Amino acid sequence: KSDKKKLGIALVGLGSYSTYQLAPALQDTQHCYLAGIVTGTSSKEKVWANRYGIPKENIYNYSNFDEIASNDTIDVVYVVLPNSMHAEFSIRAAQAGKHVICEKPMAINVAECDEIITACNRAGVKLGMGYRLHSEQYTQAIKEYVANKTFGAINYISADAAYRSMSNPGQWRLNKKLSGGGALMNMGVYAIQSVIYGTGENPISVSAQEFSTRPEYFKETDETITAQFEFQSGAVGSIMTSHNVRANRLFASCQRGWFELDPASTYIPLAGRTSRGELNFTQESQQKLQMDDFAKHILLETPNLAPGEMGRRDMVIVEAIYESISKGGQKIP
Ligand code: NDP
Repeated sequence: KSDKKKLGIALVGLGSYSTYQLAPALQDTQHCYLAGIVTGTSSKEKVWANRYGIPKENIYNYSNFDEIASNDTIDVVYVVLPNSMHAEFSIRAAQAGKHVICEKPMAINVAECDEIITACNRAGVKLGMGYRLHSEQYTQAIKEYVANKTFGAINYISADAAYRSMSNPGQWRLNKKLSGGGALMNMGVYAIQSVIYGTGENPISVSAQEFSTRPEYFKETDETITAQFEFQSGAVGSIMTSHNVRANRLFASCQRGWFELDPASTYIPLAGRTSRGELNFTQESQQKLQMDDFAKHILLETPNLAPGEMGRRDMVIVEAIYESISKGGQKIP
């Protein structure tokens, strides 16, 4: 517990998500605020300092970042870097005594997730994932249907999380060293999340397939992946993730009806319906809700809606999917 009313957050990596979603959301948060920045691009320092009134002493780069340990105005470090840098900066933040929010995917393999969790436990700091949907009303409604068995047992769950990436072949998401993988590491994590909160269970087995139509563009990273899951309850699940298809949906067929979100994981607005009718919730910035929920977890000891263990669990499934793909499919003559 902290005596502060509002926690200071430092964003690490001032790319598009920090610039267009997180920093604007931090202007509306009640329990935290944008206190500092960490950037490798010196020209961004002045722009951000002017735009958000960030004092000079709260601006860091990747080399002097560890000095953040002695800065009492920064309580939380939010890692918004390319995936392969999540582990290093989450660990350095924990070692500096700061609470950590780590963007999805948590890291590029399970071993790195373990290292982040261990570092945070050792330092006695909180660890949350950037899984914004858990703070959002449509997703919370799905979780309630599942917990209350509103539509009975779930028999089938399907989730698609995909977008079409045509531009900029130089982007880090296509570079395996920086991304750790393609569509699965990026949007696939949302589809994995959907089938889990859409059933309330972790899958127990998977069979997965990878498809490539533009290998000249997706040279190192997966373009499209489908995977089928088995759950202990007898439910079956199916996901599709892609950098070559547009789709964003969660659908569950249940014993006594169905529920659906489409879109299911975009920022706003989400939309949904069930066999009983349309869903209609107020739309608020998911990032605002998410960062306030994490701050409340620290300040008021409310539950951590997306703990590090959840990020690790998803990475276990990512690795199982890649492993299944490596075993290959059966050609149809
Ligand atoms: P961008 O490419 O827009 O920004 C990444 C930033 O990281 C850069 O601007 C740069 O910031 C810094 N960086 C440091 N080293 C490198 C490097 N070698 N190559 C590229 N950038 C580098 O990415 P996004 O903002 O879209 O994504 C960042 C993270 O956030 C990813 O892990 C992604 O999965 C996650 N994300 C999550 C979303 C969500 O809804 N939860 C949505 C979008 C992204 P600087 O110049 O300040 O050093």
